[in-house]
Amino acid sequence: MSPAVINSAYIVAAILFVLGIKMLGSAKTARRGNALSSVGMLLAIVVTLLDEGLDYRWIIAGLVVGGLIGTVAARWVKMTAMPEMVALFNGFGGMASLLVGWAEFEKIRAGSVIVEAHATVAPPAFTATVIVLAVFIGGVTFTGSIQAWGKLSGKLGSRAIVIPQQRVMNSLVLAGIVVCGVLFALAPAAGLPEEARFGIFLGLVVFSLILGVLGVLPIGGGDMPVVIALLNSFSGLAAAAAGFVILNNVLIVAGCLVGCSGLILTIIMCKAMNRDLANVLFSGFGAAGQKTGTEVQGEMKAASVEDAYYVLEAASSVVIVPGYGMAVAQAQHAVKELGELLEANGAEVSYAIHPVAGRMPGHMNVLLAEADVPYEQLVEMDDINPHLPSTDVAIVIGANDVVNPAAADDESSPIYGMPIINAHQANTVFALKRGKGAGFSGLVNQLYFLEKTRMLYGDAKATVNALVNQMKEE
Ligand code: NDP
Repeated sequence: MSPAVINSAYIVAAILFVLGIKMLGSAKTARRGNALSSVGMLLAIVVTLLDEGLDYRWIIAGLVVGGLIGTVAARWVKMTAMPEMVALFNGFGGMASLLVGWAEFEKIRAGSVIVEAHATVAPPAFTATVIVLAVFIGGVTFTGSIQAWGKLSGKLGSRAIVIPQQRVMNSLVLAGIVVCGVLFALAPAAGLPEEARFGIFLGLVVFSLILGVLGVLPIGGGDMPVVIALLNSFSGLAAAAAGFVILNNVLIVAGCLVGCSGLILTIIMCKAMNRDLANVLFSGFGAAGQKTGTEVQGEMKAASVEDAYYVLEAASSVVIVPGYGMAVAQAQHAVKELGELLEANGAEVSYAIHPVAGRMPGHMNVLLAEADVPYEQLVEMDDINPHLPSTDVAIVIGANDVVNPAAADDESSPIYGMPIINAHQANTVFALKRGKGAGFSGLVNQLYFLEKTRMLYGDAKATVNALVNQMKEE
């Protein structure tokens, strides 16, 4: 296939990516947007595979192994573990870029790269620089994402860990990366022997992997959403660097799109958490020895489903605040039914969506859309908060950190300053959770101890179903 045909197909694929992403901006067009981008990716893959000189045996082997792992993982993973899966995928994307960089270096070592695509297009210094970038960004993304996976799945605990002299160590490792990167790029011109250059390359790999570990270690609690978004952006940038390594235009475009959209998401997440990125990355939020907040006094008062029914039956405005517990319980369909019954009873019902509720950006939107809750009823945090003081009942369904009033009024709390949904301002609050478990940040929530709050203990789906049955019976 001629380069003109290949590049024209890549341009069409890139246009489809961009159009698809644009359509993801609205719930109405999102599915079509997703399909459009997928067609773009299919086109890019087919054209790349039809390009001359490819060894199909390796491609088929990769397809079979990757397809098998993907199928098993997709069947095996629970819906609540999707965020961890996304974190792993980011990490694997990073590792793939690192390996592409490594493979290209091996070709250079074997003396064949000049015969390949780079011969007329890219000078050796350029190739070396993009290899360094692919290895550096890919390595950091890999170990950073593996840690994010561990923290999200609870295998490493969600707390931040600050080791002594963390910043000094980070700076030393970063300096190591810069030194190795520069030496690697300059090695041929400086006449360094091949073995020395290989040693420098290995140093670059090891330092990059260490930086990923050190970078995510001091981040914990409620700041993980920002890190996930940032690592997602890194995985895109790593792919773009790999695209420069093998001079594949569509990989560069796709990588840049993921990198930029991840960066935009990171900024949105930072704004939602009222933090700046440097603060998230370097403050060690939630680390042992940091602020722990004022001790909460009082007791949590339980209510029965029947008690809750009588209050809800008389309510003319109800705000439902979903959180991670709704995802765990898979209660979204029951919640939708409850909302409809309340509306039929004359109440105005809205769903308050916090940007970091759940464990991945848009988690609540996805669950509620799956249950066919009308999109107009989902109200963003900033839009719903002014209405909460005049709301009769707030039903908090498996949400904890995103409704913790300590964020608004307890300066000694580590989450002080993080915007929350002001469920505590509603006249009455029903909180549905299984027991006294803390949220992701590990903090105790004052909301549950307020005079106006009643706890409905139990699995959220069972409790909502019981409320639904009660409303149907009466
Ligand atoms: P939280 O994790 O703060 O709280 C969830 C609550 O749900 C727990 O207190 C738990 O209490 C309850 N719960 C769990 N299972 C059930 C069940 N089956 N039925 C009823 N209740 C249940 O969730 P939020 O959504 O309020 O906050 C999200 C947190 O996750 C924030 O700290 C955010 O920063 C963080 N995070 C968010 C990410 C994102 O992108 N959205 C990514 C990474 C982290 P109990 O055990 O007593 O039932």
